[in-house]
Amino acid sequence: MKQPSPLSEFDLISRYFANLTASRGDVLLGIGDDAALLEVPPGMALAVSIDTLVAGVHFFADVSPESLGHKSLAVNLSDLAAMGAEPVWATLALTLPEANPSWLEAFVRGFSRLAAIHGVALVGGDTTRGPLSITVQIHGFVPVGQALRRSGARVGDRIYVTGSLGEAALALKRLQAGAGEGLSVELRQRLEMPQPRIEAGLSLRSLANSAIDLSDGLQADLGHILAASGVGARIRLQQLPLCSTVMDWIAKTGEWDQVLAGGDDYELCFTAAADRHDEIQQLSQKLNLAMSHIGEVESMPGLRVIKPDGQPWLATKRGFDHFATPGSGVSDG
Ligand code: ADP
Ligand code: MG
Repeated sequence: MKQPSPLSEFDLISRYFANLTASRGDVLLGIGDDAALLEVPPGMALAVSIDTLVAGVHFFADVSPESLGHKSLAVNLSDLAAMGAEPVWATLALTLPEANPSWLEAFVRGFSRLAAIHGVALVGGDTTRGPLSITVQIHGFVPVGQALRRSGARVGDRIYVTGSLGEAALALKRLQAGAGEGLSVELRQRLEMPQPRIEAGLSLRSLANSAIDLSDGLQADLGHILAASGVGARIRLQQLPLCSTVMDWIAKTGEWDQVLAGGDDYELCFTAAADRHDEIQQLSQKLNLAMSHIGEVESMPGLRVIKPDGQPWLATKRGFDHFATPGSGVSDG
């Protein structure tokens, strides 16, 4: 029997990407020409962000391609959530070692399911051969002047985080230790299938003074808000939202680094004036998403982390930095 001929680049695009998502009225021309033509409505700023996932750096090469499709879009959506932007268009640059139909089908399934939930249209991309790497660029709308920036925190603001922290980092730690077998579905999903907090970001436009998404760990990411805003802060470990698995783990090991410097949470950290607290609680109920008050913005620069016994906690580990000198950073970001 004749072997099926290998898929050409053109076949790949038409088979897997051309109709991957529903279109939108603001897509004047989508996949298929030399460039997409897109229309930004009057009064809207275009929010643009890009993130790359590299095999062996950001994910284990044998991770399920469906969750990889999901995560490659989710981490980008999370950036838009942190800006208070509504996601609209994505482009996808894929570098693949081979054209494996079952891998591609699963990847596309994960990507398109999440795209459909948020009304995102895939409008273009690039397909090349090489070591597995996935780059997604996301585009969103935010009314001019209303984006949530890192630089808006004010002295006296309360600091909040959505959801819960540390599960993704704990899942990664277990996988790295070769203990993937015993990993619960919930914990694995927190690492492999993060849920971008788009709804929260949109509603926080009118409530928060500053926001960031947590990709490199609370300590590092809150640090970016503080630096950009020229302020400092105090947070209390006992107020951090932790699930029982993470709480048990900390009770056993005392390793708060997992929660503060672990990364991959994809929750939002934001600051808001103290008199907005009731509105934030109402929003949290409406979205069925925890928004926990974890500390306050202060004028003294730096981040002070207070242990349950009232003593300062001293970091032993920093947030993930790809270009940190060996020994000064961590390898699990
Ligand atoms: P060119 O050679 O002009 O850059 P390509 O052959 O790379 O064009 O791409 C043809 C069309 O297919 C373009 O519209 C491009 O945006 C789209 N495309 C290519 N790869 C992907 C992909 N992985 N996902 C979505 N669209 C893609
Ligand atoms: Mg091209």
